[in-house]
Amino acid sequence: REPVLSIRNLSVDYGLGDAAVRAVRDVSLTLHRGEVLGLAGESGSGKSTLAYGMLRLLPPPGVIRGGQVTYHPRDGEPIELLSLSRKRLRRFRWAEVAIVFQGAMNSLNPVHTVATQLTDVIAAHEPRTTAAARRARAVELLKLVGINADRLGSYPHQLSGGMRQRVMIAMALALEPRVVVMDEPTTALDVVMQRQILATLVELRERIGFSVLFITHDLSLLVEFSDRIAIMYGGRIVESAPAAELYRSSLHPYSDGLLHSFPALRGPRRELSGIPGSPPDLRAMPAGCAFHPRCPKAFDPCADRAPELAEPAGREDAGRSVACWLHTAERVTP
Ligand code: ATP
Ligand code: SF4
Ligand code: MG
Repeated sequence: REPVLSIRNLSVDYGLGDAAVRAVRDVSLTLHRGEVLGLAGESGSGKSTLAYGMLRLLPPPGVIRGGQVTYHPRDGEPIELLSLSRKRLRRFRWAEVAIVFQGAMNSLNPVHTVATQLTDVIAAHEPRTTAAARRARAVELLKLVGINADRLGSYPHQLSGGMRQRVMIAMALALEPRVVVMDEPTTALDVVMQRQILATLVELRERIGFSVLFITHDLSLLVEFSDRIAIMYGGRIVESAPAAELYRSSLHPYSDGLLHSFPALRGPRRELSGIPGSPPDLRAMPAGCAFHPRCPKAFDPCADRAPELAEPAGREDAGRSVACWLHTAERVTP
């Protein structure tokens, strides 16, 4: 499949020098056309930093240390986001890549109705449209996300959290973006709501045709709704695979741990074990594989040498990669 957004060797720090928190470390990840890509990992693993970083929306003291982010338009030359002028970047962000960030539903303006906020977005980008056309468009957008037109006159506080989130999605879709990035908080939105929102996005993706990067700590959602899943640990991608394959046989012990942190979707019940221990200190990462202090399968090389993200050795399944000594050629062919 064709790429629409590709990240190469992206590194992001908070702060400078020795005190810097190295939140994203040399991450490469590709979002393909029409795909729903899920990004999972424990709190603090760098998921939001990756999303903010690739779109140059990092709050201070966030700095991009290196890498490339390339957007591939439907036609025309690829665009390098990290070297784009501020002005072009701003235009680009709404029109091509829309983002609904953690807690975004609280960023609706409390003193304006839903109608005003939607038509304002449309007006800002399509100033030549008439007020009537904008209003009709707003109704249509709300309908898309499952909200009745009679809500147009509502103020944000009159809507439930789920509805506010849907309004945010409607605003994000107003300019027919090619990519929607959705960053769900670990805590604020309950799983039922996240599920409805992701289901809505997947359905719209099929009807309208865009790609989705969906960030959540809830791997069960991703197994159900996404095409591909990437797992982050300590600022790195440690495994990526088609969703069904990851669920069937995860390769990285950390992915195993995450998968066993929720009940099986179908089939026999499995024991919920979770992952003992706590996430690594990003200022002082363990040597070798960052997961080794918590890994039930750690062995010889793990504490000394860091495994690279690569195709698993000795396996035919395409489109998978993993960073673990259990699956590198050195280990598989002794
Ligand atoms: P969550 O699931 O809780 O949203 P996350 O995977 O999105 O977590 P990030 O928010 O990207 O994680 O944070 C990655 C690391 O960067 C964490 O260790 C966090 O403490 C650190 N961090 C995030 N923002 C800042 C900041 N503004 N200044 C310093 N450190 C930060
Ligand atoms: Fe565990 Fe070693 Fe694999 Fe790291 S490299 S996940 S410590 S087995
Ligand atoms: Mg986050």
